[in-house]
Amino acid sequence: MTRERTVERLITAHKQLEGGGFEVRRPLPTAGVDHLDPFLLVDELGPVEYGPGEAIGAPDHPHRGFETVTYILEGAVEHEDSAGHRGRIGPGDVQWMTAGAGIVHSEEPSPDVREKGGRAHGFQIWVNLPAKLKMTKPRYQEVQAAGIPRAQTPDGRARGVIIAGEALGVRSVIDTITPIVYQDWTLDRDADVSIAIPADHRALVYAFEGAVEIGGREVRDGQLAVLGDGDVVRLRASASGRVLLLAGVPHREPVARYGPFVMNTEQELVQAFRDFQSGRMGEITRTAQVG
Ligand code: MN
Repeated sequence: MTRERTVERLITAHKQLEGGGFEVRRPLPTAGVDHLDPFLLVDELGPVEYGPGEAIGAPDHPHRGFETVTYILEGAVEHEDSAGHRGRIGPGDVQWMTAGAGIVHSEEPSPDVREKGGRAHGFQIWVNLPAKLKMTKPRYQEVQAAGIPRAQTPDGRARGVIIAGEALGVRSVIDTITPIVYQDWTLDRDADVSIAIPADHRALVYAFEGAVEIGGREVRDGQLAVLGDGDVVRLRASASGRVLLLAGVPHREPVARYGPFVMNTEQELVQAFRDFQSGRMGEITRTAQVG
């Protein structure tokens, strides 16, 4: 027997400056909601149109204790980190970075976007790690758009990009440390799709275009729906909409967070600052560019 999840709560994203000063729509965290276990943050960058020289990124900064997941829809971001990973992700590409014990990275608009300007749109979410894996070795996974599996309903009205987890028999290629679902669903008029999400997961839906309907409730552009218990998420659209579907198994552990660090206790946060300041999270090795 299946049980459809209903909307327990709607959170409207607020605007916030991040990194070097770019604006994001942020439904999580928000006033009174520090995290939605196991998710710590959901940021939507743009869509924004940058003029020449206007694009802003996030220069060298540390993370410890969780994972950052970046999904680009428009524009491009260049990444470098202290573990020696380097990458450029463009439209449709995903970067799944496990900060674990500690990493210093930079996330910057690609030089062509910085020089000429252009559109930028994308997401970054933070996924918490359980206490026993917070000090795991940093890991970096990058998947280009063409390598990300897609699923759709037989009538083609609902189409999903399966970044993590499974839907309609299609399984993701990203390896997640704990069970995580991360999918981008586009719904045309009269779309109706049911996605099985195990009952032990917490499920969230963030609408970023149009609107979708879940259990008789409308979730509009810029709203994050926190879903209740069940084992199926059914998304419908009377007009059209686009959403991120996020789900994961809660860790049910204390969360101590401050800026770029997310641990279980205040003492561990203090230690994280000390380790960063004494250089124990490393630094980015940059080779001089010629020409
Ligand atoms: Mn970062």
